[in-house]
Amino acid sequence: MRVLSKIAVVSLVATSFGATPVIGAGQQFVTIGTGGVTGVYYPTGGAICRLVNKGRKEHGVRCSVESTGGSVYNINTIRGGELDMGVAQSDWQYHAYNGSEKKSFIDAGPYKELRAVFSVHPEPISIVARKDAGIKHISDLKGKRVNIGNAGSGTEATWNVVWGAMGMTNKDLKLAAQMKSSETPGALCDNKIDAFFWLVGNPAALNKEATTTCEANFVAVDGMAIDKLVNKFPFYGTTVIPGGMYRGNPDDVPTFGVLATFVSSTATSADTIYAVVKSVFENFESFKKLHPAFGHLTEKDMVSKGISAPLHEGAKRYYKERGWL
Ligand code: GLU
Repeated sequence: MRVLSKIAVVSLVATSFGATPVIGAGQQFVTIGTGGVTGVYYPTGGAICRLVNKGRKEHGVRCSVESTGGSVYNINTIRGGELDMGVAQSDWQYHAYNGSEKKSFIDAGPYKELRAVFSVHPEPISIVARKDAGIKHISDLKGKRVNIGNAGSGTEATWNVVWGAMGMTNKDLKLAAQMKSSETPGALCDNKIDAFFWLVGNPAALNKEATTTCEANFVAVDGMAIDKLVNKFPFYGTTVIPGGMYRGNPDDVPTFGVLATFVSSTATSADTIYAVVKSVFENFESFKKLHPAFGHLTEKDMVSKGISAPLHEGAKRYYKERGWL
């Protein structure tokens, strides 16, 4: 108990002094920003920290995770120097680095110090609707009560892109709710919303919660406007929500998505990022078992796909050693 509270105080002090401060005898702290607790970012960050902390006697890096609002929050907070690493959708990694698409990214200008570390699982757009709302296709959301994602999530940012590509604005919804992801299954099953939209790895605890608590179906995200959007950018790809993964949804549902990626910045030391990537890739088989969304990951894909910003120095050093670059 005493030890725990001491650690909590130390990491609080550590974060308030900016990225990767060195405390005590060669100890480095790395804090990873993730997402909501019932998403996949949060357990992914946890899995990585467990691997890092297992080897901390050798490399001196202690890792901790924070539950956050998601991709955009993580990128902005790394930029502000208050997080060392974070998880971000590949589309927002691209747009942050290039200063494009989202007003706050355009206004802030290209974030040239942003660094990619590796990518992880695919994140298809999941739209989960109450069965009694009769929503089968994304266009059926018109006039409905929809949770579009909390402020700071990659979800909300991508919603604006997708709904805009369909020629719609939030005025075309009856309600554009912005609850955080963990609140949405309850709101759906209590009939406060008709559907929720988000980008997440499968299987996600939250999708399971919604489909087991009440009658809910996944919604198709396809058609001409979607094809046009997917063809326009390299970070989008078509995929499906696999049939049989969630209760009451026996058939594949077409959709498209991005990849979840780990990002950092030039402000975080190469030694720290080297220790993190080494911990993951030297324990790769156990890493893949830590979440069912990681089942299909390969080392080659993780260091090449979904990477829009330059690779972090520390990551590059390790990938070169392994002959991957
Ligand atoms: N892709 C989501 C976002 O940035 C988060 C998903 C998750 O928490 O697993 O909004």
